[in-house]
Amino acid sequence: MAHVNENFLKLPGSYLFSEIARRVNQFKKDNPDTDIIRLGIGDVTRPLPPAVIEAMKEAVDEMSRQETFRGYGPEQGYEFLTEKIIKNDFLPRGVELAADEVFISDGAKTDTANFQELFGIDNILAVSDPVYPVYVDSNVMAGRTGPVNPKGEFEKIVYLPCTVENGMKPPLPEMRVDMIYLCFPNNPTGMTLTKEELKLWVNYARANRSVILFDAAYEAYIHDEKVPHSIFEIDGAREVAVEFRSFSKTAGFTGTRCAYTIVPKQVMVYDANSKTHSLNQLWLRRQTTKFNGVSYPVQVGAAAVYSEEGKKQVKETINYYMENARIIRSGLEKTGYKVFGGINAPYIWFKTPDNMKSWDFFDKLMKDANVVGTPGAGFGANGEGYFRLTAFGSRENTEKAVERIIKMQ
Ligand code: PLP
Repeated sequence: MAHVNENFLKLPGSYLFSEIARRVNQFKKDNPDTDIIRLGIGDVTRPLPPAVIEAMKEAVDEMSRQETFRGYGPEQGYEFLTEKIIKNDFLPRGVELAADEVFISDGAKTDTANFQELFGIDNILAVSDPVYPVYVDSNVMAGRTGPVNPKGEFEKIVYLPCTVENGMKPPLPEMRVDMIYLCFPNNPTGMTLTKEELKLWVNYARANRSVILFDAAYEAYIHDEKVPHSIFEIDGAREVAVEFRSFSKTAGFTGTRCAYTIVPKQVMVYDANSKTHSLNQLWLRRQTTKFNGVSYPVQVGAAAVYSEEGKKQVKETINYYMENARIIRSGLEKTGYKVFGGINAPYIWFKTPDNMKSWDFFDKLMKDANVVGTPGAGFGANGEGYFRLTAFGSRENTEKAVERIIKMQ
């Protein structure tokens, strides 16, 4: 008899976006003529940059000729892409990396979900609350947590509440934790940390021999010069942090799939005898066993993001989304909402009026303004009473949605 992995049974059945889809479909069925604007799911809408498309077409042509055809590539990714990543994303910020500290992958979701495999099952993990659900769910599946309580919190996870009082910035854990998931710019709150604030986390991790799993999927949206783009801009972070990056939100690769993870050779984990083991070596071992690399045309496309044309095109798209973010943010603020994010991130996080429950506000916004967003409660107990809108829509829809929300008051 085949037995189920009981850890999967701890997960709540209905995933946030399925429940949103269910409610939207029902509403559309009841109101077939309504023009609904979706500012909910965090997917991009602008097409891939022309420089990327051109490069990918050429790479596909190469695959069609005997002389230039390529089969399996290196599991860690092609050097032509790794070199460009180091030269463009890290060296200008004073971060030196070796080529074998960069691991190209098919997504930051995959990597943030898989990386926990390298840690012992008894490790205690900390996440901010609200949180990108993948960090939690992947650890639940692995069996690193206990059951979930009615508030949606799993036993053995340390939740770091992000509140109005702390400006949506997670406090340091009051107890010792081993694995710390940080995401900046943050999904869902849109907030960032300064170098000084991030330094506190690096100091904590060094003092406690913890590892920080730093998700920088939205790094390209940082405009403020004072905000670090990489955790490795902080002294000492190379010993305690791993960083996840993605071309998804940077260059429209959500459907094309390319990302990378930086695992410095100095980051260590410990065995029962306190002997050290390099996470870099363990991740290499894991990837070479379970992953066979990102397709050649996709890696060529990702490399084109760093061409002069590619950089210009990517910047235009990001500026487009960030203007949407500005429009949403200022519209909500003018209407009296307490708003977070939207300055160095494509997410706008705000308090629902009159302490309304997030799902009630979801229904109200859909019915009264015909706008679909994401209820904060879907990101954790502390997301209750909050709501997320994204800047990834078209300008026209964004403006229309904001006008409707203002009128709804
Ligand atoms: N990390 C965060 C915080 C995200 O919000 C997302 C996507 O929404 C991802 C990772 C996934 O990125 P990718 O498309 O590279 O898998």
